[in-house]
Amino acid sequence: MRLSQMLFVTLREDPTEAEIPSHKLLLRAGYIRRIAAGVYAYLPLMWRVLQKVSQIVREEMNAAGAQECLLPQLQPADLWRESGRWDTYTKAEGIMFSLIDRQQREMGLGPTHEEVITAIARDMIRSYRQLPLNLYQIQTKFRDEIRPRFGLMRGREFIMKDAYSFDVDEATLKQTYDKMHTAYTNILKRCGLAFRAVDADSGAIGGSGSQEFMVLADAGEDEVLYTEDGKYSANVEKAVSLPPDAEPSSFTTYEKLETPGTETIAKLCQLLKCSPTVVLKNVLYQAVFDSGRVVLVLVSIRGDQDVNEVKLQNELTKLAPQYGGKTVLALTVPDADAQEKWATKPLPLGYIAPNLDDSYIKPPKPAPAGQVAANAVAPKFLRLVDKTAVDLTNFVTGSNESGYHVVGANWGQEFERPKLEVDVRKAVAGDRALHDPAQTLKTARGIEIGHIFQLGTKYSQALGATYTNEQGEEKPLVMGCYGVGVSRLAQAAVEQSYDKDGIVWTTAIAPYQAIVVIPDIAKADQVQAAEKLYAELNAAGIETLLDDRNERAGVKFKDADLIGIPYRIVTGRSLQQGKVEVVQRATRSSQEMALDAVIPTLKQWLSEPY
Ligand code: ATP
Ligand code: MG
Repeated sequence: MRLSQMLFVTLREDPTEAEIPSHKLLLRAGYIRRIAAGVYAYLPLMWRVLQKVSQIVREEMNAAGAQECLLPQLQPADLWRESGRWDTYTKAEGIMFSLIDRQQREMGLGPTHEEVITAIARDMIRSYRQLPLNLYQIQTKFRDEIRPRFGLMRGREFIMKDAYSFDVDEATLKQTYDKMHTAYTNILKRCGLAFRAVDADSGAIGGSGSQEFMVLADAGEDEVLYTEDGKYSANVEKAVSLPPDAEPSSFTTYEKLETPGTETIAKLCQLLKCSPTVVLKNVLYQAVFDSGRVVLVLVSIRGDQDVNEVKLQNELTKLAPQYGGKTVLALTVPDADAQEKWATKPLPLGYIAPNLDDSYIKPPKPAPAGQVAANAVAPKFLRLVDKTAVDLTNFVTGSNESGYHVVGANWGQEFERPKLEVDVRKAVAGDRALHDPAQTLKTARGIEIGHIFQLGTKYSQALGATYTNEQGEEKPLVMGCYGVGVSRLAQAAVEQSYDKDGIVWTTAIAPYQAIVVIPDIAKADQVQAAEKLYAELNAAGIETLLDDRNERAGVKFKDADLIGIPYRIVTGRSLQQGKVEVVQRATRSSQEMALDAVIPTLKQWLSEPY
């Protein structure tokens, strides 16, 4: 391609809309243009990158025995009602774009395709002889994200590869899952990315496991905890570890002390000269279930620990049936406005004890005759105790009176221990690892570019997708799902590889592998040599650009650096000796090379990892 004929516009200044380097660079180098929040046009250079990434993904999926298909983006609401996700996705979470067609039928734009694929499986899979089966597609997904940001990282329209597998049982699902793990590892290696596969949260449906593939970068939205022996890595949402040992409490008698201005654990410990490990902290949350029920949750946890809200949400989801629902729609720390809605009087914030009285909650308004009260607040606190607080003795905790704490308290004496014991503590860097307490957890930032997930029978059961096994029994299909954010991956590659002058693509996913630059198009010999090289390189299968614009050499070199093409070939002064200059973008190493050595040398270099 000739730059003179291309839609090629680069920007000198950083666009104000962009915060992270990869987003700035993709905009500046003319790869993408923003059309609306989270909606981008992929311009010709970007489209080539996306096709390269897609092709690598496709090859690895095919090698793992998956088959490519293309499913509809426009999906009927009824299908989503069968799985129970229509209302949650379109209303509660609001992640799904929905519309009404001219026949007044509700439709949605696919944020994911479990429903569609399971409906197909229900219709087409009859027997164990058809299994295992793994279908995938590479397609645009639509999600009305709350905070679209960072360009292609979190878009509202983005490209995803999604695969869905069907197996006879958990054991063969595990084999399929392992194949996907290998495929994902190969994809990332081929793209030249530094990454880590980490244990991931599977939500409350559990499944037998899920892992995320994280591209390591400071701008990553996720935190990864890992050990240096390589044996453990997990998303912080899921991570487990050993909490530090608790120190023995020096408060051997129970008493109430005046502790003014100690709303935080740090201030309290400073005043009482005690370790936070002898403090019992009581954290209040407000959960909204899909049944409309609002439940106030009081979590008692050791003072030096924090609550992991993802773990808490999973625990609450398990309890959802108790509140007439299936899932938790929102989990928040109730702010003043929220408290005002349900509290009968001001809460003793910072001084709450585990026995905070249920009379703080307003009794539900009686529902009109024959109706169930909507959004009713459960009349009692749901009290949970984290494992770190179960064995505390002589602890310090709130007194339910502002300005006072109690010390030397014990479960079974001054306080009744909540019956529900949970593990909701947040693991943090520096904690000891479970598999080897000599190892401490380290932290890194990651960009989640893929997620592989053993789903089990959640969707096949909901939609009635079954098969007949060898014994003639009807069984639900055992499913897995596997996603790669193709457009996110492409930007993550930039986030991991750039310098002050621009993008540094690896040869595997660069839009072009080489660029021939004519320093001065007024010089016939430069033009002639460049034209010849350009034609020969492309004929040799090396994807090459020709910068034949009427611009200064300096501008051309800057642009070549900015767009990040791996090899730059300059038909400059050394032509007199029958040579050109070849510069490697990543290292900036430059060498003069005889004209006829260019193609064999580049071929050699391109066959090696870059
Ligand atoms: P996240 O936690 O980042 O929102 P997710 O758990 O919603 O991701 P999945 O539903 O598992 O993601 O989707 C599979 C892959 O699609 C993700 O691993 C990610 O790479 C990509 N992806 C998800 N949401 C977006 C988005 N809004 N923009 C770009 N890529 C996305
Ligand atoms: Mg998401």
